[in-house]
Amino acid sequence: MNSYKDKLRKITPYVPGEQSKDTDIVKINANENPYPPSPRAVEALKNFNTDALRFYPNANATLLKEALAKYYGVGVENVFVGNGSDDVLALAFQSFFCGREAIAYPDITYSFYPVWCELFHIPYKTYPLDEHFRVNVEDYREKNGGVVLPNPNAPTSLGEGEDFIRRLLDYNADSVVIIDEAYVDFGGYSSVALTKEYENLLVCGTFSKSRSLAGMRIGFAIGSAELIGVLEAVKNSYNSYTVDSLSIAMGIASVEDEAYFRTTVDKVIKTRTRVTNELRKRGFEVLDSQTNFIMATHDGYSMKELFEYLKAKKVFIRYFSLPRIEKYIRITIGTDDEMDRFLAEVKSFLEDKQ
Ligand code: PMP
Repeated sequence: MNSYKDKLRKITPYVPGEQSKDTDIVKINANENPYPPSPRAVEALKNFNTDALRFYPNANATLLKEALAKYYGVGVENVFVGNGSDDVLALAFQSFFCGREAIAYPDITYSFYPVWCELFHIPYKTYPLDEHFRVNVEDYREKNGGVVLPNPNAPTSLGEGEDFIRRLLDYNADSVVIIDEAYVDFGGYSSVALTKEYENLLVCGTFSKSRSLAGMRIGFAIGSAELIGVLEAVKNSYNSYTVDSLSIAMGIASVEDEAYFRTTVDKVIKTRTRVTNELRKRGFEVLDSQTNFIMATHDGYSMKELFEYLKAKKVFIRYFSLPRIEKYIRITIGTDDEMDRFLAEVKSFLEDKQ
């Protein structure tokens, strides 16, 4: 029998980090920043003229683009902004991965990529990371319909340098290469300068991690005027107003507060070094992170059990029940107090298991 149900979309969505109403939770499971946004961004919120909300936002978010163009030393025609970098990436997939050939990305990477491929009917091929979780650039010599790669990669936390990215671009002159730099500010190599040399390179960024504005949903991309023009055309064929007026105002204020940005990023990096050392002292293997999270494992202990133990103690970290990384946990770097609570619970877990 025919039913409307046969016509409904069947899709397996991306699963974000768990949320809770409990205020006593140490929430280090979604790579959020533990520090508040820049006081200048908070000031922009307080001074915001709410009467203006009856107007649509500027469809081009011109002022925010100008602030980003100045910050990154590129032209305003080289900047695209969107409703979080998930929005920017989803639009980029629709804009640049339109051929018949499979796009290429690593087997262990941001788990939203296969979801967008499925949603937009984009064929894809994955290349395994090596045994040290590194990307083998030679894999990406094979003909493809496009390349997408987070640098640093997630959830491995490992980053690649300029030489790697140049080789990747040289091998892929006939495809668009998207570098997802969601975590780059915490110590990675940024390819933004290469967008001036390579017209087929799109670099995506976000205000959700290093700028503590995940709740405002601000993402951006930097690339040649040609790529940005196509992104704009696709966005304007879908939703002209993806960035709201308040996000524009707070985003600009955040970009203009370099001192606060540096201070908070440096604090996260310092805490990351301390937690990495503490975990290593307790026998954990911890990958050398260039992000605001760490990937860790410990021989002889189940990381799934540790994840569940911590959850019962109200410390939320992330565990992926996926091939190759099921022996690892991913821990976002929180404040020093939060990480002390995390470390104390880890210590109790290891002692309980002795
Ligand atoms: N890219 C990567 C690699 C991420 O981990 C995330 C965060 N989940 C995003 C992009 C998207 O971040 P947002 O939409 O908050 O900008």
